[in-house]
Amino acid sequence: MELLNGKEISGQKREELSAEIKMLKEDGITPGLAVILVGDHPASRSYVLSKQRTCKELGMHSILTELPDTISEDELLSAIETFNRDHDVDGILVQLPLPSHISERKVIEAIAPHKDVDGFHPLNAGKLATGEPTFVPCTPLGILEMLKTKDISIRGKQVVVVGRSNIVGKPVGQLLLSEDATVTYCHSKTENLAAHTKQADILIAAAGRAKLVSKEMVKEGAIVIDVGMNKVDGKLCGDVDFEAVKEVAGMITPVPGGVGPMTITMLMNNTVLSAKRRKAFKGAV
Ligand code: NAD
Repeated sequence: MELLNGKEISGQKREELSAEIKMLKEDGITPGLAVILVGDHPASRSYVLSKQRTCKELGMHSILTELPDTISEDELLSAIETFNRDHDVDGILVQLPLPSHISERKVIEAIAPHKDVDGFHPLNAGKLATGEPTFVPCTPLGILEMLKTKDISIRGKQVVVVGRSNIVGKPVGQLLLSEDATVTYCHSKTENLAAHTKQADILIAAAGRAKLVSKEMVKEGAIVIDVGMNKVDGKLCGDVDFEAVKEVAGMITPVPGGVGPMTITMLMNNTVLSAKRRKAFKGAV
């Protein structure tokens, strides 16, 4: 079994990004990411701080707007609009989840699609589904980057995705379909989950259920990507029973240190991509 070390792979990617950022800066463009945090959810705060830290480490411009959870939907929408119009901001991210009185759909749709570095806007989701170039959501993109860096062949392989959310399950399946995988989606209503997962050459667990994937559900030699982030007795653990599954898997991601670091790195990647488009636009005028 080989460990798919997300920290190591994302470290290499960050070095590449750092060089690109340096070049952009020489051309007078500093990639900028605006993050909006509503309320004081501890996990959200820690994600946001680590996104900000990474921006700083890479020499990017980062803005954090913290808003109380009593804010109205209209006030949040107007904060987004300010960043839509700000030429120094290449990417806008509103940390989810939001308080229940605010519509996530309206908020996501308010972000200008060309600054939607999370890739959640329906226009970008539609482009991914139709195979057009777009901002791909960061976790799926991080998974693809890991597979490519490790020269894992995707074409013709049986990929099984456990989970069908709009931010992980659905887009990762679409992304790997566009790389010519044969994709099966499983979800909470799937009957006989193990019969599907056992077929997987590449198994992606994104259900948010601790240790859902046991050794018996994994084919010998399979590549196992664990997206899950669950807190059990105060400890972070994935959707895969790591200790048991590593006995049968060919390669496996740990939690923490697997998909998580890749996600943040691909957020930086998408922001740099947006800044490059700004540069191309600037050059064209
Ligand atoms: P979600 O709750 O929106 O979706 C979970 C999906 O899993 C649903 O489609 C549901 O049908 C399916 N599911 C639930 N129970 C199941 C079961 N018993 N069998 C089969 N399918 C089942 O969650 P999400 O936002 O997609 O996130 C999934 C997990 O990934 C969470 O633990 C989340 O914290 C984690 N996550 C990690 C990263 C990262 O960077 N590592 C990023 C995003 C999400």
